[in-house]
Amino acid sequence: MIKAVVGANWGDEGKGKITDMLAQEADIIVRFQGGANAGHTIVNDYGKFALHTLPSGVFYDHTTSVIGNGVALNIPVFFKEYNEVVERGVPAPKILISDRAQMVMPYHILFDQYEEERLAGKSFGSTKSGIAPFYSDKYAKIGFQVSELFDEKALKEKLIRVCETKNVLLEHLYHKPLLNPDEIFEELMEYKKMVAPYVCDVSLYLWNALKEGKEILLEGQLGSLKDPDHGIYPMVTSSSTLAAYGAIGAGVPPYEIKKIITVCKAYSSAVGAGAFVSEIFGEEADELRRRGGDGGEYGATTGRPRRMGWFDCVASKYGCRVQGTTDVAFTVLDVLGYLEEIPVCVGYEIDGEITTEFPTTALLEKAKPVLEVLPGWNCDIRGITKYEDLPENCRKYVEFVEEKIGFPITMISNGPGRNDIIYRNK
Ligand code: GDP
Repeated sequence: MIKAVVGANWGDEGKGKITDMLAQEADIIVRFQGGANAGHTIVNDYGKFALHTLPSGVFYDHTTSVIGNGVALNIPVFFKEYNEVVERGVPAPKILISDRAQMVMPYHILFDQYEEERLAGKSFGSTKSGIAPFYSDKYAKIGFQVSELFDEKALKEKLIRVCETKNVLLEHLYHKPLLNPDEIFEELMEYKKMVAPYVCDVSLYLWNALKEGKEILLEGQLGSLKDPDHGIYPMVTSSSTLAAYGAIGAGVPPYEIKKIITVCKAYSSAVGAGAFVSEIFGEEADELRRRGGDGGEYGATTGRPRRMGWFDCVASKYGCRVQGTTDVAFTVLDVLGYLEEIPVCVGYEIDGEITTEFPTTALLEKAKPVLEVLPGWNCDIRGITKYEDLPENCRKYVEFVEEKIGFPITMISNGPGRNDIIYRNK
């Protein structure tokens, strides 16, 4: 059976921790979209890790970590991360890389930088990892699959063709040095040496694993609101962040995805530009940022301070719905323990009307938050393992959110560690 772990919001909900935790009982963990542009922070027996491309299941002996065809695979970054994990004492993870995964090319990263420079103040807040140029090329059908590394003649010819078109842009739009296909070819031959031992037909591998009754986890990156179709377009990422895309980005039957665990953070944070209705500012935001996550709310990949806000029931209800949520994992609840009172965004006021349905981007830009203030619990809830043992106001907060979003909260995370989890039977 397949379970997906995905985000309800803007990313950074704590998917890495939930995946790491659920991986104890899984056989295979698959990344199915995205690239090295976002990261997961994981705290476990080996220490604290920021993973960008490795699936969050790499810390166990019994799991196989898989890069699905939907991923933007940056080969040098992937192996750098792999080596770092091993150097820090984690047993060499078993990894498989889809022969259909496409590679982030050295020029994708350059184009990302050049485009951000060109757009200057009007940029999309890219992390400059080459992800947007990568997916543009994929859908323009000039991307390179891992399997193409193994036909050198065809690869060379295609590189010459692709460089011709790229060089027109470099010369006339960006005024930057031109690409040399021979140099890129040499670099790709290095990539080939690195990936060769791990390349496999992932879709077939997963099909057989399912027949053998293996448990598979699909690990999403970012969250619903960054989905290119259902998110806050154009301030979105370039590949679908939804569990449904797991079927495509891993190559598995959609009907096998039986559980969709949507990770929702007990307050809001976002990176990059875009409407963020429940955003807070000033000292109030600074304090939540400092206390947030595990050591503050700063991007795992970029180190950028995250934008902060109160929990947004409108965005989260929508985020859970578009994921097809079966279970909500409600995370980082412990962080709110310092507050006497906790505002929650329960509606949006748009042109004088109040709605609880998440609108399209143009309307979202006009939305003002409708806040309801709940009493805080004002104590530390770390270490509590039973739902009944949580302070009453804390349970009320959970139940209030659950009622507003309309999906069952079956897991509550009250600390960054693997065992900081409270299960609720629903
Ligand atoms: P992801 O991209 O969804 O995996 O999220 P990130 O790893 O970027 O951000 C989550 C941050 O919160 C990390 O620093 C985690 O260690 C931390 N974290 C996860 N769950 C909890 C929790 O329940 N409590 C606290 N205090 N920190 C948590």
